[in-house]
This record gives sequence, C-alpha cells and structure tokens, in this order.
Amino acid sequence: MINTRTTLNIVRIGSDITYSSLKTIGEKIVSAFNGIIAGYELAHHETPVVESIDAQLLTMILQQDIGGHTLGITDADLKTCDEDEFYQTIFGGKNPKNDVAVVSTRKLTPRHISTDKEYELFLDRTLKVSLHEVGHNLGLTDHAAYRTAPDGTLCPMSRGEFNKFGTTGYVRAIIDGRGLTFCDECTHFMQQVYGIRFKTRKYINGYWIDLEKQNRG
Ligand SMILES: [Zn+2]
Ligand SMILES: [Zn+2]
Repeated sequence: MINTRTTLNIVRIGSDITYSSLKTIGEKIVSAFNGIIAGYELAHHETPVVESIDAQLLTMILQQDIGGHTLGITDADLKTCDEDEFYQTIFGGKNPKNDVAVVSTRKLTPRHISTDKEYELFLDRTLKVSLHEVGHNLGLTDHAAYRTAPDGTLCPMSRGEFNKFGTTGYVRAIIDGRGLTFCDECTHFMQQVYGIRFKTRKYINGYWIDLEKQNRG
C-alpha cells in the first residue's frame, strides 16, 4: 500500500487530453484525498498504442518506466480477458501487485465534443474514474450498492451494477452521479490507515472545515 504523502505521477499515454486538463484532474484528486497524497507530477509516455492495449500490460509498462504511485490516462481502449463482454474493455483498472492504475477515456467521451460544456463533462468523467482507481491504490474497495457521501453525491468508490445499464447508462447513472467526497465508510478507512492529518478536517454544510486550525483559533 501507498505510504502517506506520496506524490502521484499522472501519465498521459498516447492521448490528446491537454496538460491543463491533467492539471485540473491532479489538483482535484489531491484535494479529494485531503492530505494523503502530497501532490502530483505530470508526464507523457510514448507507448505505441493504437486502438487498444491490454490493461494489465499497460500497468506493467508504467511500473517499469515510471514506478511509484502512478495513474495512467489513455484514450485507447483498455482490454481485459474477462469472459463477460461488458468487462472486456474497462473504464479503469488497477494492478494489485503494484501501485499503478490506468484509466481509458474512450467510453467517457460524449458523442460530440464541440462545446465547453461537453468538454467539461468529459473532463469530469475522467476525473471521477481516476479518483476511483486512485482510491483502489490507497486500499479502498468498490461499493457494489449506491453509497452516498455527506454532500449527497455518490461516493467515488460506488461501482453499482454494470450490466443493468449498459455502457452509456452506466456512465450517466454511476460515473456522472459520483461526487468528489468520500462516504463515511471510506473516510473512516483512510483515517484508520493514514492517520491524524485526515482526521482534522470535517465536511460541514458544503465546506471542508479545518478543525485543527479552528481549535487553535
Ligand atoms: Zn473499482
Ligand atoms: Zn465510499
């Protein structure tokens, strides 16, 4: 498992997502984990990816070339060997043998990206899938059922029942429904594992309140 205060490497792989978008994603991930991740670094990886790549193979390549706590973002399809056709290409995955997670933006893209609003939606979905996979890197597990965070959105670790919706329905119901705040169970887990720093903040009326500072006046 990740040491506290590790820097997250965000690696763009054969993708045309902009660096400024990756920065937005990095900043929001660091903020959502509230002190557990020290910061992020951006990198580009020249993997010869065309249409698709085996998800596990990609995590192994990134482990070898980058290592550490890494999130790879690609626009290629991520393939798995799952018997169920739905899972043969995935939104994101994590290699349990290292701290490398990968996300595919391919199925997250709205039909057209011509307006700012459509691009924002695309970016928001990429962030939410990324947050989920980084959550796995930090030891969090999937919620099969809907689990809401204190702000009323779905916890980033919500997985739901994929096949009930099909790909487009799943993206809209689960991924778009997720927020950037973790549910009590996930927060409790992170408090136990990563300690005090996380404990000093509380989500009250839509804001993170730094209790440590408040107590000190
Ligand atoms: Zn998951
Ligand atoms: Zn949760």
